[in-house]
Amino acid sequence: MTSSAWESALSQLDEASRIMNLDPGVHDVLRNPKRSLTVAVPIKLDSGLVKVFTGYRVHHNTTRGPSKGGIRYHPAVTLDEVKALAMWMTWKCAIAGIPYGGAKGGVVVDPKALSRDELERLTRRYAAEIGPLIGPERDVPAPDLGTDEQIMGWIMDTYSMIAGHSVPGVVTGKPLSIGGSLGRGEATSRGVMYITEATLKHRGAKVDETRVAIQGYGKVGAPAVRLLTELGCIVVAVSDVNGGVYNPRGLSPTGLEAHRDDTGTVVGFEGGESITNEELLEIPCDVLVPAALEGQITENNAERVKAEVIIEGANGPTTPEADAILEDRGVLVVPDILANSGGVTVSYFEWVQDLQAYFWDEDEVNMKLRRIMERAYVDVLDIAEERKIPTRMAATILGVSRVAEAHVTRGLFP
Ligand code: NAD
Repeated sequence: MTSSAWESALSQLDEASRIMNLDPGVHDVLRNPKRSLTVAVPIKLDSGLVKVFTGYRVHHNTTRGPSKGGIRYHPAVTLDEVKALAMWMTWKCAIAGIPYGGAKGGVVVDPKALSRDELERLTRRYAAEIGPLIGPERDVPAPDLGTDEQIMGWIMDTYSMIAGHSVPGVVTGKPLSIGGSLGRGEATSRGVMYITEATLKHRGAKVDETRVAIQGYGKVGAPAVRLLTELGCIVVAVSDVNGGVYNPRGLSPTGLEAHRDDTGTVVGFEGGESITNEELLEIPCDVLVPAALEGQITENNAERVKAEVIIEGANGPTTPEADAILEDRGVLVVPDILANSGGVTVSYFEWVQDLQAYFWDEDEVNMKLRRIMERAYVDVLDIAEERKIPTRMAATILGVSRVAEAHVTRGLFP
């Protein structure tokens, strides 16, 4: 049976702890989220009726600093999923070496089924309900699946209205006009590009002969198509929730963007032939970038993945069962907690700029991002090569060891 995200996250931590010989008490602390909040979010619909949605905010760990993590709006959000994503954020921040713990939030809702006014009311009420947990020194949310910079703007405004003054550092991924950072919008995709570049270089592969398939055409997937094409790769396939397109000679990023802007989907783009989402994962290519949901590469399709390298743009796209199959087959999986940390890294830059009220130009943001991503890549690879273990386990060990060290140094309260 395929694992849930929370089971996957726990089994990765357990395995890392076993290999590291981690103190059982510290292991137990890290297995348990520090705090989990469930909130009822009642809003008035445009029809005048009141409907109650369920929301969550989980702080997995705050030992290394305020917690950081996105807010997800999706009908399939569960507390267990939010807990898993919060734990992965803890490791991700530690691997990148940024001074944050891990958190995540979510609301069980299909945002596309709400009007803009309903979405704003939902966001403001959710922000007020999780208000006691968030703040620039406590916990700093950001966008994730189904949320965007406008939603971050509403959260910033709601929090600021209650505080009585503007608090830009309470969320990241905000619009530029209210304290957002240049480069934040495409930071996750840019990080995916830097990691792809480093991986191809390490393997001695030629960038301009590398065929890439990308699942998901949202905030991570769409800029990744453009940035990987700019790097020199041939992006042969892309998909969204409705289906995908394939062209072995390469897809035009600008053509795709224009088609998505006109129709709301990549499906029907005339620069390629139609494929299903299942076909995308098994398409002939060298690098596969899952950038949609978790649990996409499972024991049911891992055997048929043609790519030699998987760069995880999404969080948790590969189940532990699939990981084992891919490892046997010699497929390199560059894990989410390393590959998609560009987003949280530039979120950190945004927060630093907000706290200092002093803003950087885009070159400075991108240069600092590249430095952090390349450093993290080398740190993870060193552990993988030294211990002869898969990259995901190496990354988890790096993250867990940094958090464990901070935990032991601080000591246990009281
Ligand atoms: P998004 O909502 O902007 O885009 C999601 C994309 O996935 C859309 O194109 C959607 O159509 C597609 N999709 C949804 N269900 C699908 C399905 N069943 N099959 C194929 N495609 C499907 O979300 P996003 O922010 O791009 O996030 C994507 C993933 O990346 C998530 O796992 C998220 O946690 C992770 N992530 C995002 C960021 C960020 O900065 N946005 C940072 C790190 C990780």
